[in-house]
Amino acid sequence: MWRNSVEEICRCVHELISSLSAYSNPSQVSFTNGLYFFYEKGEVSIHAPNGRVVRVGNHPYSSNGLKRRLQLHYSGNKNSSVFRKFLGGALMRRENPAHPCLPHWEKQGQPTCKVCRKVEEDVSNLLRANFYFRCVKIEDKGTRNLLEKKLIATISSCKICKPSGNWLGRYAYSDLVRSSGLWNSNYVYDGDWVMSAEDLNLLRNLIQLTRVR
Ligand SMILES: [Zn+2]
Ligand SMILES: [Zn+2]
Repeated sequence: MWRNSVEEICRCVHELISSLSAYSNPSQVSFTNGLYFFYEKGEVSIHAPNGRVVRVGNHPYSSNGLKRRLQLHYSGNKNSSVFRKFLGGALMRRENPAHPCLPHWEKQGQPTCKVCRKVEEDVSNLLRANFYFRCVKIEDKGTRNLLEKKLIATISSCKICKPSGNWLGRYAYSDLVRSSGLWNSNYVYDGDWVMSAEDLNLLRNLIQLTRVR
């Protein structure tokens, strides 16, 4: 059934999300519970001519943690944000596939050294220069966690929304990032969680509620 194919669902998902306000700074977000969607300069697809989603994120454990989570991406460090760890690792590998900092940078919990401390700055600058994001308000934690999983499974499984040839993520250590075009590794390609038409309606309603203030 074409209408409910993963590609058709993905196209609708991108269209719905694109109706939300775009932000470049976590302090611009007016609510504290929800999912966020990152976009990256140069990354587009037929489903999303103005920008395809390159990361779906959540604050899965903490209530009211949306802005704090976003702040950890923008101003935290590689051990507080897997997104930053992915970005910094890709920056280093693009510069030098045998970069001496990669083993400790990409290992969770390992401290940065004098050299890669500077990469934290590069990651912060990269996020400010090349990325922006949108957020959908979702108060209920169960709904938030379920939709996160389903959105990642759906977008990663779409055959149309693929990374551009010189996408930075092609240098990420995770093969799931490299091939999916998402700075995500959990739930990527999880065929059991592709969204249904019902899930799409749920997302549509949540987006409508987000836009009405
Ligand atoms: Zn280092
Ligand atoms: Zn798509």
